[in-house]
Amino acid sequence: MNLNKNDFLFQEVSSLKGVGSKIKKYLEKKKIEKIKDFLWDLPYSIVDRSKISKLDKLEIGKIMTIKVVVSKYNFPRIRNLPNKVVCQENEKKIHIVFFNSPEGYIRKILPIGNEVIISGKINFYKKNYQITNPTYIKKSDNVSDITKIFPKYSLTEGLKEKTYRNLLSKVLKKLDEKSDWYEEKFLKKNKFNNFKNTFLNLHNPDKEIDINSNDYRRLAYDEILSNLLTLYKARKNIRIFKKKKKKFTNKFIDKIYKNFSYKLTNNQKSVIKEINEDISSDKRMFRLLQGDVGSGKTIVALIAAANVIESNHQVALMAPTEILATQHYENAKKIYSSLGISIEIITGSTSNQNKLIILEKLKKGEIDFLIGTHALFQKKINFLNLGFIIIDEQHKFGVKQRIKLAKKGGDNCDLLLMSATPIPRTMMMSLFGDMDISIIKEKPQYRKDIITLVKPENKTSEIWQLLNKQILDNQQIFWVCPLIEESNKLDFSSAEKKYKLIKNYFPDKVGLIHGKLNDHDKKIVLDRFLKKQIKILVSTTVIEVGIDFPNANVIIIENANKFGLSQLHQLRGRVGRGNKEAYCIMIYKNHLSQNARKRLQILRKTNDGFVIAEEDLKIRGHGDILGFQQSGIKNFRFADPIHHKDLFILAENNIKFINANNIKKYSNLLKFFDRTELITEI
Ligand code: ADP
Ligand code: MG
Repeated sequence: MNLNKNDFLFQEVSSLKGVGSKIKKYLEKKKIEKIKDFLWDLPYSIVDRSKISKLDKLEIGKIMTIKVVVSKYNFPRIRNLPNKVVCQENEKKIHIVFFNSPEGYIRKILPIGNEVIISGKINFYKKNYQITNPTYIKKSDNVSDITKIFPKYSLTEGLKEKTYRNLLSKVLKKLDEKSDWYEEKFLKKNKFNNFKNTFLNLHNPDKEIDINSNDYRRLAYDEILSNLLTLYKARKNIRIFKKKKKKFTNKFIDKIYKNFSYKLTNNQKSVIKEINEDISSDKRMFRLLQGDVGSGKTIVALIAAANVIESNHQVALMAPTEILATQHYENAKKIYSSLGISIEIITGSTSNQNKLIILEKLKKGEIDFLIGTHALFQKKINFLNLGFIIIDEQHKFGVKQRIKLAKKGGDNCDLLLMSATPIPRTMMMSLFGDMDISIIKEKPQYRKDIITLVKPENKTSEIWQLLNKQILDNQQIFWVCPLIEESNKLDFSSAEKKYKLIKNYFPDKVGLIHGKLNDHDKKIVLDRFLKKQIKILVSTTVIEVGIDFPNANVIIIENANKFGLSQLHQLRGRVGRGNKEAYCIMIYKNHLSQNARKRLQILRKTNDGFVIAEEDLKIRGHGDILGFQQSGIKNFRFADPIHHKDLFILAENNIKFINANNIKKYSNLLKFFDRTELITEI
C-alpha cells in the first residue's frame, strides 16, 4: 500500500506553518518533535458546551454555558478594576467580568435587555457567581455557533490552547485516506477505522475517551503489533546465528561460595544450571529471570557472570539507577574478591577523566566486568569481547534501550534480563517475544514474612516506641515520604520537614536522601547508612528499586494510600532481607478511598508478589490506564493488558503471517512507534 502521502508526518514540527522556535520549544516539552507526535497526544478530557445550565445548578470551577438576559453595567473609572456586567435568569444573577476589555466593546456584545448565551469557567467571588473573560458570547438564537464539544489537551505553560488546536487541525487535515498498513478486509473484520478516520475521531470526540472504543482499540493494536514486530525481528536475528560456545570449568565458583555466608536455595541452583547450559551452548541466550523482591537474583547473575569471565569474555551489567549500580559494584567486588577479576563502574557521574581511562581499558580487554546505568549503551563504549549482558530491573528500560545494549554484544553475546515485576501472561509475548523464562519462586529459608501494619497519621506513638527498640538493637530504618518539598496543592508530607522532626527525637542518627541531591551526595549518605553511622534514612522513593541493605528491618511509608500496589510491594521489599523480624508500617491520611483501603488490605494479607500483581490488575478501575504504567511496565502507552487482552492475542496470531515478503508494508507503523533502528534492517 502506498504510504508516501503521509510521509509529512515524519518531518520535524518546525516544517509546519506557524511553528517558530518558541512554539517548537513548547512542543518539545510535550514530547512533540515530529509532526506525527501530534496524533499520539490524545485529549485527556472533553468540554461539553452544548448543555445550557440553569443559574441555580452552577458548579464552581467547571466550564459551563448559560442563557441569560443582560441587566446592568458597572464600569468603574479606576485603573485595574475590571468591568462588570450583571446578567439575570429570572431573579438569579451572575456577574460577567472583563479584564482589559474596553467599555465600547462590552456594550456592543452585551446590549442591555438582550438574551445571550455565555460560556466560561464558573467562579464564586464575594457571594456572587461570576464568569471572568468568557470564552464565548453569542446571541441566544445562535446556539449552533457555539462549538458544542471540544477536546482538552494537556498543555505546557506558554502554549495557548488556540494555537495548539490550530496546529493539530492542520495536521489532521493533511492526513491521507488511502494510506494504511492494514487491508480493508482486516479493518472491517475488527471494526477498525482506517488510519485517517481513526485519528479524526480520536481528536474530535463526542464523549470522554473510551479505551474500549473502536478507534482507541485500533491505536492499541498498532502499538502492540509494532512491539511484537520489533521483538520478532530481534529474536530472529538471535536465532539465526550460531554463537561460539563458551568454555568454563566452574573454577571461580568454589571460591565465590566462600565470599558469602548463606547457602543457595535449590531454586537458585536450578536456575544457575539453566543459565550455564545456555551459555555453553551454541545458541545465544535470551532469557528472563523473574523472582520476587528479595528472592536473590543478584547472586545468580554474578555466578553466571563469573563463568563467562572464565571463558575469556567480558560482561556488562546495567541497572536503572546510580544507587543500584553502585551497590552492585560494591557487591561484585566483595563476591569476586581474590579471584583476580577486574571490575569497573560507569554512571552519569563518572568523571570524564575516569571515563576515558575505563574506555581505553575496556577496548583492550583489561576490564572483565563493567557495571553501570544506561550510560552503558553510549556509542563510545566499546568492548573488546563482550560475551554476556545482564539487565537488572529490566522493566525500567524500554524495548529500544534493551535492543541498543544487546546490539553492543554482537553475535556471541548472551542476554539475561531480570525483573521482580510479574508480567501477566497476556503481555509476555508482546513484551518479550518468545523469550526463555526462569523463575525463582522460593525465598531464602530463614526469611520470615514481613509484619505489615496500617496506621492512620494521628496514631503514630507506637512507631516511636518501635524505632527506639530497633535502634537499641542496632537495627536500621527506612522512612519514605512521597515528595521533597512542601507543596500547597498536594497534601504530601515533606521529607525535609520529616527529617528535621525525627532529628529532634534521634539526634545524630538520621540521614536524608532525595532526588534533588547530586549523585555524589547521595553516595555519601548511602555509605553512612551502609556503615551504620546513620540509623534512620529518610528518603523519597529513590530507594524504590533494587537496593539491598540487609540490616534495615523497618520501613515506614507515609501517605501509603498515594502509592500503587506494586510500588508499595517494591518498597516493602527493601526490608526483611536479613534473618531478623522485619516491619512495614504504612501510614495514611484520614480519608481513605475504597480502592486505597483495598490495596492496603491486600498488602497486609500477603507478601507474595505474584498474588499482589494479580490483585493489582483486578482492582484497577475501569479505564484506569495509568495504573498499569505505574506498576512499572513502561512499554505501552495505549494498550492495556486487561481491556485489550483480545488484541494481544490477535497480534500474536497475525504476526505469524508477517514475513520477509510483506514486512515492508509495516515500515510506517514501525516509524510511528520510533522503531527506526529496526527499519534499517528490513
Ligand atoms: P533481588 O532478587 O530482589 O534482586 P537480591 O539479589 O538483592 O534480591 O537478594 C536479597 C538479599 O538476599 C541479599 O542480601 C542477598 O545477599 C540475600 N540472599 C540471596 N540469596 C540468598 C540465600 N540463598 N540465602 C540467604 N540469603 C540470600
Ligand atoms: Mg535486585
